[in-house]
Amino acid sequence: MTACWQEVSPGIRVWRTDTLDLSLGLIEGTRSCLVIDTGIDSQQGFDFASAIRSVTSLPWQIVYTHDHFDHWFGTEAFGEAKIWASGSVDAFLEAGRRQRETMASQYRLEGKADQARRIGSTRLTPPNCELTGPTAVDLGGRTVVLRPVGKAHTDNDVVVEVPDDRVLFAGDLFENGADPAFEDAYPQRWAAVSEYLLSWKPDVVVPGHGEPADYWWARRQMRDLGELAALCREVATGYVSRDEAVRHGPFNAETMSTALDRDRTERLSTPASSVAAEPQSPHEAVPPSPQASTVVNLGWVPIVDARDDSDGEET
Ligand SMILES: [Zn+2]
Repeated sequence: MTACWQEVSPGIRVWRTDTLDLSLGLIEGTRSCLVIDTGIDSQQGFDFASAIRSVTSLPWQIVYTHDHFDHWFGTEAFGEAKIWASGSVDAFLEAGRRQRETMASQYRLEGKADQARRIGSTRLTPPNCELTGPTAVDLGGRTVVLRPVGKAHTDNDVVVEVPDDRVLFAGDLFENGADPAFEDAYPQRWAAVSEYLLSWKPDVVVPGHGEPADYWWARRQMRDLGELAALCREVATGYVSRDEAVRHGPFNAETMSTALDRDRTERLSTPASSVAAEPQSPHEAVPPSPQASTVVNLGWVPIVDARDDSDGEET
């Protein structure tokens, strides 16, 4: 396995991996650093932690962008740490156990015995600081915003904004070089969330997988997500056929099929009025878009000092 660093802004790095083409993040302040996701298994997590120690000796805290295994199964290598995420310990443990079993057998079937063994033996490390709203973390000389966005790629997505450097770590809400993944997604809400996330026009958008890119690349994917959501609605009303949507949609046929299935499931399980982009509870609420020229909402998010390594009982 090989991997390498890319510095997208001074003190803001992306660690790119061969395995699953991940983009893991590191943001340095003067007092501590923030690690964004930890990788697919303990081996990759160890490699990532070692790579971090090759560039900084600052104490770290971690944020999970969501509960998919490839973003948090590497945490064991980081030892004791404050770990932020949207979602409870129980929810992460349940998702982790399920994915550990599923992915280990999938890798075994693919003849990747070593990978299967590493995933199957993962010691799950759930978050210990649940994000219930946008939260600013002071790393010393640099403040980052951890923003839970509710249902989109999953039901627990979090993005990381670095307003002063105009960098957005988007988790799997954006993917570069491959289609976005819809297996656990909410296509209508995802489209609305992606539009909101780009409303402050970040210069750099770091996807969960693939090369970091710029605003204009992300804007094209935002439009594709919007077109996909529109096609899902039109299939639901009968205006276009499923076959037409799959054939003419912005993503490949398999991705379109998965997204259409997810949208249909959502419609069957949710009252019609809430399938669209409306938030379903205050926790899931997407705040109104800021003016394009303003930095995102720093005025009202609680500031947490990164030196506080208690159990996250911030006020
Ligand atoms: Zn994912």
